[in-house]
Amino acid sequence: MKNYQMSRFCWLEINLDNLRDNFMHFRQMVGHDVKIMPAIKVNAYSHGIVACGKILEECGADYLGVGSIDEGILLRENGVKMPILIFASNLIQETANLYTEYRLIPTILSMEAAKAFSNVVSEPSDVFIKIDTGRGRLGVNAEVFADLYREVSQLPNLHVEGVYSHMGAVNWPDVGADYAMWQFSRFKSAMDSLGDDAEKIPFSQLANTPGSIALPEIRMSGVCPGRAMWGYSPLSRRETHPDLKAPLVSWKSRLVHVNEVLGGKFGENYASVKLDTPKRIGIMAGGIGDGISPKLADGYVLLHGRKCPVASTISLEHTILDLTDFPDAKVGDEIVILGPQGEEEITLDQRIKEWECTVPLIWANISPHLDRLYYRDGKLWSVAKGERFIRVEQ
Ligand SMILES: *Cc1c(COP(=O)(O)O)cnc(C)c1O
Repeated sequence: MKNYQMSRFCWLEINLDNLRDNFMHFRQMVGHDVKIMPAIKVNAYSHGIVACGKILEECGADYLGVGSIDEGILLRENGVKMPILIFASNLIQETANLYTEYRLIPTILSMEAAKAFSNVVSEPSDVFIKIDTGRGRLGVNAEVFADLYREVSQLPNLHVEGVYSHMGAVNWPDVGADYAMWQFSRFKSAMDSLGDDAEKIPFSQLANTPGSIALPEIRMSGVCPGRAMWGYSPLSRRETHPDLKAPLVSWKSRLVHVNEVLGGKFGENYASVKLDTPKRIGIMAGGIGDGISPKLADGYVLLHGRKCPVASTISLEHTILDLTDFPDAKVGDEIVILGPQGEEEITLDQRIKEWECTVPLIWANISPHLDRLYYRDGKLWSVAKGERFIRVEQ
């Protein structure tokens, strides 16, 4: 490893072959006539947007959907050339120049936004319009979409390349897909209200991860899976469910300090209790500021292939382990917060139960300042350190 040195001993290990396989299984499932726009917002659900964007571009994704202009800029600065849609999180009235400078596709929610974009573009440029079909969030209401579409497409240099919406609850039809199908019917009536103009729009998309899998009839010309790319779907597994594997294989740390503690039994609010006998403790890099739940205080991590109890999680950058049963533990030893070690494994399912949260929440809480180590074909391929993306020379 020539040009990369680990400098903070709490990190993620990500197998990009699993991301590629997840995409390819999705491609197989929807076929080649349906476009795929992987949603890679929130730093690719914390997996690191640059590496993941590059892999999905290589796999033949049709668009990338990202959450902010900054994410779009980061992808462009790292050589990603494919079309990038920005899910609306800004006012185009104030940011239109950035869209043109970095060739990013805006999501239009209003005429003010469309006019602002039209004013700065000097050649035909793609825009997407977002429809609200029932999530009650961003988008023009399906019932008045046609008015906005007509006005927008009359503005100089604007081409409505896509129309999309986002789903609420989705499940297998026999479990409960009524709400999803109602959203789909609103989307379809919105498109029908355009008459022949509907055919001028190459990309219409409503289906997220569970929508794309459970309801083939709503795939239309495109789908937008987010969670599936990271190996997760909320649906029960059935024959038609694509095989998905988590690219996030491990969340690791190392012991940076080992000590005998004379006082300091750990309790809430930094309370210390004097101990009768000294206690052997270990400090690992990574704390609640890194996305570790405070609930880890009631749990364990893996050390030497065994369960090692956690003594305290009150620090932002460190976690205190109880090494009473680990007399051989020493500084530098590797710790696993998530993933396998020896015969033991801590799964994401286990963590969401213990931490009383959801899979997307675990991902979202993982701090961007943990190094992400990316593997392809079992070899270290690149590393993300914050926004810096480093190709590793073998
Ligand atoms: C995040 C997002 C998706 C992907 O949703 P998943 O349920 O993670 O597949 C789709 N569409 C939009 C607009 C999104 O913001």
